Amino acid sequence: MITRLSRLFLRTLRDDPADAEVPSHKLLVRAGYVRRIAPGVYSWLPLGLRVLHKVEEVVREEMNAIGGQEISLPALLPRDPYEATNRWTEYGDTLFRLQDRKGADYLLGPTHEELFTLTVKGEYNSYKDLPVTLYQIQAKYRDEERPRAGILRGREFIMKDSYSFDLDEAGLKASYNAHREAYQRIFERLGVQYVIVAATAGAMGGSASEEFLADSPVGEDTYVVCRESGYAANVEAVVTPAPEPLSLEGQPEAVVHDTPDTPTIATLVDWADAAGIGERLGRPVTAADTLKNVMVKLRHPDGKTEIVGIGVPGDREVDDKRLGASVEPAEVELLTDADFAANPFLVKGYIGPKGLQANGIRYLVDPRVVTGTSWITGADAPGKHVVGLVAGRDFTPDGTIEAAQVRDGDPSPDGRGTLVSARGIEIGHIFQLGYKYTDTFEVDVLGENGKPVRLVMGSYGVGVSRLVAVIAEQQHDDKGLRWPSEVAPYDVHVVIANKDDAARAGAEQVVAELNTQGVDVLFDDRTASPGVKFKDAELLGMPYVLVIGRGWAEGKVELRDRFTGETSDIPADSAVSAVL
Ligand code: ATP
Ligand code: MG
Ligand code: MG
Ligand code: MG
Repeated sequence: MITRLSRLFLRTLRDDPADAEVPSHKLLVRAGYVRRIAPGVYSWLPLGLRVLHKVEEVVREEMNAIGGQEISLPALLPRDPYEATNRWTEYGDTLFRLQDRKGADYLLGPTHEELFTLTVKGEYNSYKDLPVTLYQIQAKYRDEERPRAGILRGREFIMKDSYSFDLDEAGLKASYNAHREAYQRIFERLGVQYVIVAATAGAMGGSASEEFLADSPVGEDTYVVCRESGYAANVEAVVTPAPEPLSLEGQPEAVVHDTPDTPTIATLVDWADAAGIGERLGRPVTAADTLKNVMVKLRHPDGKTEIVGIGVPGDREVDDKRLGASVEPAEVELLTDADFAANPFLVKGYIGPKGLQANGIRYLVDPRVVTGTSWITGADAPGKHVVGLVAGRDFTPDGTIEAAQVRDGDPSPDGRGTLVSARGIEIGHIFQLGYKYTDTFEVDVLGENGKPVRLVMGSYGVGVSRLVAVIAEQQHDDKGLRWPSEVAPYDVHVVIANKDDAARAGAEQVVAELNTQGVDVLFDDRTASPGVKFKDAELLGMPYVLVIGRGWAEGKVELRDRFTGETSDIPADSAVSAVL
């Protein structure tokens, strides 16, 4: 195929779009691959659509290779099946709901477990039909709270979703493993760097589940890995033993004063005002000054542990117990140096070996709570009151750290090393769903012995459109996009870099030959200056650029490798073998 740039529906942009934060978003818009229609809703223009289709094709081939059969269900779905599984409600605001002219409720499918289950129930009734794996590659709809980074987190996006139906758990495991291996082949072929991590099942339900996370600093998932053992898990899923208590020897003792008898937000504000903090701030002290800075994990002399917080937003239990529901729920955060710099209300300190004293009681503090940096908070002058300690980690009664609170350096659950954290973008997710959906819809077939057998199910997703952004994210450089051959819109970008007729005619000849040999060519036949053309070639990101210019008279063309940046003069008749 030959596409002439002079005819291509394409306009490249010199400037980054104002709303773009991550490189893939900036470049895909600047290079004219996608255009924004609404938040999280994008159009695919010719070059982008070619990449999307190529990614789809890789996914399709690998799904077919494990025996998956492609079908296509509607995106517009009736409410009933989702009501039956309670996901009509569970999905909350993420679900796009709508009504038809008769007032009947519909939704736009965010994922299709219900419908695939019903589809199989409708067609199959004998054990002889099983196992079966069905899939589709189709638009999904989720009203994401924060649509982000262009097509990376869309509200309409393309997903490959597949569903396996088996007669028993062993069958489910085999289907799951087949998908796991297919996903490894898909991401390998696409040249994506990724890790497989243990995951939680979330809204999907079921038991075992793993995520495929592409390495990326712009990822929204945090995972931990143990380099020694290879264990890896999403922080949402990891449960690990709490580290050994740290020694507090040698740490300075905090100056601890009694707090007001019964601290409340109001008394803290009054107290801070009386201490002249408002004067130093140049404004009245507000309740907000007392927020996000007090959180104490206390171990009582009798061994019981308790979280004591004062005005900690988001910790209802604490607020209710200590203060009454006095503040709005919000995230609990650790303080930063900037917070201390900005707010003379706060002082830094360590908890001393004697523990923390508050409310006239001396508490022993579990030293594991003070791993890393901990802060005593309070006034910055002697005689004022310490109100707490920010530590920000809770332990479960059995002594493990709760999911998401795991930190770098914590022991790996397998006991074979320590954990370090990294960020990634979720590109695939596989679930052993079990019986959640087949129980709801009573999907039985007649078994070999004449008794009904309930089917057991798995579900498996790949973010097809997201992968386009992930590849761009991992492969780009400061000049523009760079597409691996497997997904590049064209195999080679041919540039005429000379005005003379001979070079032009030569380029036509080379392009025709490439095409005959099955090479897809993007042909810059425009009259623009070579500088403009080279810049566009770099931005658009085909893996090879072939320049036909001065050397043509000697039968030479210049080959540029977009990945290595290497340039070489090669005989024109070897161009085909060089780019294939
Ligand atoms: P995320 O954690 O990124 O929100 P998810 O866990 O909600 O993803 P799944 O329900 O597991 O997503 O869907 C399967 C795959 O679909 C994901 O692994 C991801 O690659 C892709 N995906 C999910 N949400 C989006 C989105 N808003 N835009 C693009 N791709 C998405
Ligand atoms: Mg999500
Ligand atoms: Mg997820
Ligand atoms: Mg997921």
